[in-house]
Amino acid sequence: MRIPLIAGNWKMNNNVCESLSLVNNLIQLSGNFNNDVEVLVCAPFTALYSLSKLLSGSNIKLGAQNMHYEEKGAFTGEISPLMLKEIGVEYAIIGHSERRQYFNETDESVNKKLKSSFKFGIKPILCIGETLEQRENKIEKTTVENQIINAFKDIKAEDAGKVVIAYEPIWAIGTGKTATSKEANEMAGFIRNVFKKLYNEELSSQVIVLYGGSVKGESASELMNQNDIDGALVGGASLNAEEFIRIINFNQQYKKGNKEIL
Ligand code: PEP
Repeated sequence: MRIPLIAGNWKMNNNVCESLSLVNNLIQLSGNFNNDVEVLVCAPFTALYSLSKLLSGSNIKLGAQNMHYEEKGAFTGEISPLMLKEIGVEYAIIGHSERRQYFNETDESVNKKLKSSFKFGIKPILCIGETLEQRENKIEKTTVENQIINAFKDIKAEDAGKVVIAYEPIWAIGTGKTATSKEANEMAGFIRNVFKKLYNEELSSQVIVLYGGSVKGESASELMNQNDIDGALVGGASLNAEEFIRIINFNQQYKKGNKEIL
């Protein structure tokens, strides 16, 4: 069974004090959470230790937005998976398009980070997605397929099954433009097919596939109720507790047709 995951990516927002305040709000409102959904916040490195203490015993999981693939060493400015593990971080986003665009993240480094995440027991959220130009040139599927093939190079099925894949069309990230539910679901289905070719039918039907790109409370329900989409990676809207909870509660909105529910 695929358990839906709603993950917040705070990016470079929230100092320690703001992070604690946002998560305190979420915890207070968590009695209203959709219990069938796993909830995760991916915070800046500086807030992770304090958040880990605050979140212990809660039903909100903690993630980092990046990690290095080495365990330790002369990599000035980097954070290792072991350091994350030590402070109770469960997930790490890997290969976010902003890291690919601004920080030279490549398919090769993404592959190394995935392997390292399995070795050190961090759950990876692998981000893939095409640019607007690639979509306009109708090479969005080839682009995504190549990203998957390269990311999973020399990774065995037993590890591949641990990855959460976030399909994030770059043209929809932080732009206010959301892919239509049809476009997003079509790509999520395509990603499962690539997984089937690379591994097997069982893995392709089990892998968790998220959609990311300007998801808001009002768009969540339709997107999340598509057959091949299992949740969302949420940037901007995860910075506001009420809006994030609307997304977490997509299922209730869907069932009750009530967009205002918290
Ligand atoms: C993201 O940061 O992964 C993201 C999808 O951002 P936004 O929701 O703001 O588009």
